[in-house]
Amino acid sequence: MTEVLVKWSAGLLDGAFEGEGQSWFRPDQEPGTSAWVRNTSGAICALEFICPCGCGRLCCVDVTQSEGGDQGWQWDGDLERPTLRPSIWCKVTCGWHGFLQRGVFRG
Ligand SMILES: [Zn+2]
Ligand SMILES: [Zn+2]
Repeated sequence: MTEVLVKWSAGLLDGAFEGEGQSWFRPDQEPGTSAWVRNTSGAICALEFICPCGCGRLCCVDVTQSEGGDQGWQWDGDLERPTLRPSIWCKVTCGWHGFLQRGVFRG
């Protein structure tokens, strides 16, 4: 099991390039570098992060604070050291599978 601490960045999509498998890459950023994504009304709707495995991919998961539903991963509301549930699985790309718990990617 590896542990990668979340590091915050202002935004990650600028400077990303599209590569293999229609993935977006930011190999210049450290694994675990993350940014919150806001919708048009300013509410946080997703977390983008540089894949903790070191593949350089920019991954993104939709998040919600409401219980249940299909709107995405359940986020505990902590901006600095977030916990998401359930686990994150980069199934069709690099295969990384792990958890984001209190600001640490564990996989
Ligand atoms: Zn990934
Ligand atoms: Zn990866």
